[in-house]
Amino acid sequence: MPMSDRVLVTGGAGFIGSNVADRLLHAGHSVVVFDNFDPYYDPAQKRRNVGRALESPSYRLIEGDVRDRASLASAFESAAPDVVVHLAARAGVRASVEDPLSYLEVNELGGLFVLEESRIRGGLPIVYASTSSVYGGGSVPPFREDDPATTPLSPYAASKRSAELMVHAYHHLHRIPVAVARFFTVYGPRGRPDMAMYSFTRDILAGRPIRLHGETTERDFTYVDDIVDGVLGAMDWVKRTRGHDTFNLGRSEPVRVRRLIELLSRELGVEAKVVMGELGASEVVRTAANVEKAHSAFGYRPRVSLEEGVRRWVEWSRTSPAA
Ligand code: NAD
Repeated sequence: MPMSDRVLVTGGAGFIGSNVADRLLHAGHSVVVFDNFDPYYDPAQKRRNVGRALESPSYRLIEGDVRDRASLASAFESAAPDVVVHLAARAGVRASVEDPLSYLEVNELGGLFVLEESRIRGGLPIVYASTSSVYGGGSVPPFREDDPATTPLSPYAASKRSAELMVHAYHHLHRIPVAVARFFTVYGPRGRPDMAMYSFTRDILAGRPIRLHGETTERDFTYVDDIVDGVLGAMDWVKRTRGHDTFNLGRSEPVRVRRLIELLSRELGVEAKVVMGELGASEVVRTAANVEKAHSAFGYRPRVSLEEGVRRWVEWSRTSPAA
C-alpha cells in the first residue's frame, strides 16, 4: 500500500462511515465523503459525526445522493479516488418492510451507479458494504460466505443480496475489484438510533420497558472498531489482489439479546424492565459469523468483547447529546 491513498467513502457521515473516515485520516490517508444526510434518522447526528474531520485539511465532504448519477459522477471526478468504500445505504430491517422502494432505489440502483463509476474509471477497487441479513430463513448459523443466501426475510436483505449479485456480474464482465463485506450487528460510538444498543439505552434511562423480540433471540454484536479494522483489511486485500470475494465481518460470539440488556443495565446502574414481544417475520432468530475467510485473506481478528464494548458505548453515550 502506498503511504497515502485517496479514499472516497460513500455514506461517510453515518455511523460506520464516519468511524471509517476518522481512522483513515488518522492513518494518513486523504478522505472524501459523499453523503446526502438522509433523514432516516436525525441528520444533526450525522453533522456531529463529521464535525471533527471537517477540521482536517485531508478531508472533504461532498453532499449528494447516490441515486443522482450526475452528482455521483462529479464526486468521483473531483475526488479522483484510489479506492472506494461504499457504505451509503438505507439500513434497518424493520423500516424496509414499510418503505421497500427507498431500499431498492438507494441500495440497488445507487449501488449500480457506484459500480458504473468504477467501470468508467478503469476498475477502481471497491469495498462494498453488505449485511448478515442476507443470511435469511434458510441459513444455518454460524454463517459461512458459501451459503447460497437465497432466502432473504426483508426488503433490506433482498436489496443487499441483489446488490451483491450485481457486484458479481460487474466483476465477471469488467474485472472490477470488489471486496463485499457482510457486517454483523454493529454497535459503538455514533451508533444508529434505530438499533437495539441505542434504543435499549434510551429505554433503560427513561425507565421505559424494553420490548424484547423473542426470548431466545441471539445476535453477533460487533464493536465498530472491529468493523473498521475489517474494512481497512478488505481495502488492502482488494487493492492487492484486484479480485472479487465476500467476507463476513463479525465478532463470532453470538449472545442472547437478554444478556445484552443485563450488561447495559449493569453498566448504566439502572434496572431494566422487559416486556416480551414476538420476533418479527422480517428477522432471524440467531446470527453468528464464521470469519475464517477474512482471517486468512487479511488477518481479520475482532478484539473487543461485548463487556468491553458495552462499557465503551455507555461511556460515549453519557457524553453524546443524542443518546
Ligand atoms: P447509517 O444510516 O448511519 O449510514 C448510512 C449513511 O448513508 C448515512 O450517513 C446516510 O445519510 C447515507 N445515505 C443514505 N442514503 C443515501 C443516498 N441516497 N445517497 C448518499 N448517501 C446516503 O448506517 P450504518 O449503520 O453506518 O451503515 C453503513 C453501511 O453498513 C450500510 O451499507 C449498511 O447497510 C451496512 N450495515 C450496517 C450494519 C449495522 O449494524 N450498523 C450491519 C450490516 C450492514
